Amino acid sequence: MSYQLTLEPLGATIEVEEGQTILDAALRQGIYIPHACGHGLCGTCKVSVEDGEVDHGEANLFALMDFERDNGKTLACCATLQSDTIIEADIDEDPDAEVIPVQDFATTVTRVVDLTPTIKAFFLKLDKPLHFQAGQYVQLHVPGVDGGRAFSIANSPEEVKKTGEIEINVRLLPGGKATTWLHEQLKVGMALKISGPYGRFFVRKSQTEPLLFLAGGSGLSSPRSMILDLLNAGHSGPITLVYGQRNLAELYYDDEFKALAERHANFSYVPAISEDAAGWTGQKGFVHDVAKTHFNGNFSGHKAYMCGPPVMIESCLSTLMQGRLYERDMYTEKFLSAADANDQRSPLFRRV
Ligand SMILES: Cc1cc2nc3c(=O)[nH]c(=O)nc-3n(C[C@H](O)[C@H](O)[C@H](O)COP(=O)(O)OP(=O)(O)OC[C@H]3O[C@@H](n4cnc5c(N)ncnc54)[C@H](O)[C@@H]3O)c2cc1C
Repeated sequence: MSYQLTLEPLGATIEVEEGQTILDAALRQGIYIPHACGHGLCGTCKVSVEDGEVDHGEANLFALMDFERDNGKTLACCATLQSDTIIEADIDEDPDAEVIPVQDFATTVTRVVDLTPTIKAFFLKLDKPLHFQAGQYVQLHVPGVDGGRAFSIANSPEEVKKTGEIEINVRLLPGGKATTWLHEQLKVGMALKISGPYGRFFVRKSQTEPLLFLAGGSGLSSPRSMILDLLNAGHSGPITLVYGQRNLAELYYDDEFKALAERHANFSYVPAISEDAAGWTGQKGFVHDVAKTHFNGNFSGHKAYMCGPPVMIESCLSTLMQGRLYERDMYTEKFLSAADANDQRSPLFRRV
């Protein structure tokens, strides 16, 4: 059984299977609806139901409030159709976005590496080629865990094409169902289903301004893919990465970025740790403060890409705005999890 979904203002009509979410159907048919968490937590994928009936599914009460439900709003990541439906979605054209329909992939684990005490790298061999834009993510389907879990692809599209493997870097969340299973149960040789690619966190290559990447924790994964992609392609404009971790043991891929900075005169690497550490001669503090010091509080003329925990992104956004960047200059990927379910959205900024 399936229903017809018409998406305005595009005027496109697609098939949606019973039980399939609006977002899943759209992405698999090459239509991008802005979204972020994919679990009804953040409200980025809010759309208006113009005609027809939907089930709001697991939409969080803060992300989709009662009065919004009454006014015909729904979250595309959770909503399923009960009839043929027409929705109005905030779909803007992005000249740098490639149309890459989401697909399912069967993968096999070829390597597991302990990057830090809390972050493991998993290398997953794909059953068919995966084309993606550096910065995008995949959903992992973990046995016994409802729904997919988002993890950014940490290696470059060139490397994925060459090896047929994607790398994901997974931080263990205490009490987290999927991350605990991945850390404790997933071993070399095991199979794992994934889908992708998802997301609009990629470098707008048509823009020529100097690039600033701000990453915290396992939020290094997307920027790593993006920076490797840029440097591989011979990008000659200035690129700065400010990367923050709590302590030295968590500072992974540090040597790799130092080596890249030595090889590429246009790439600057600014690692920072927030806790005290004997012998550390680098920057000390949170990513936004370290970036502010590095740029003397003035970021004007840059395009900024931020990736990591929501609290880090919020701090970076206000620092960059105080330092003369505007919404049009900033792109973010928030590593939301169920723990963020009850948090309010940023009053500063709506794009993710
Ligand atoms: C686009 C995107 C890309 C991402 N990329 C990466 C990446 O590359 N690497 C990475 O490490 N992470 C990444 N993340 C984050 C990652 O998806 C989450 O860490 C993961 O989904 C957690 O899954 P889990 O099942 O382990 O945790 P869950 O079981 O979903 O819960 C996580 C934590 O929240 C607590 N919790 C659960 N429900 C609630 C609630 N209602 N209120 C308060 N606390 C609650 C749990 O006890 C647990 O401590 C990304 C996230 C997004 C959105």
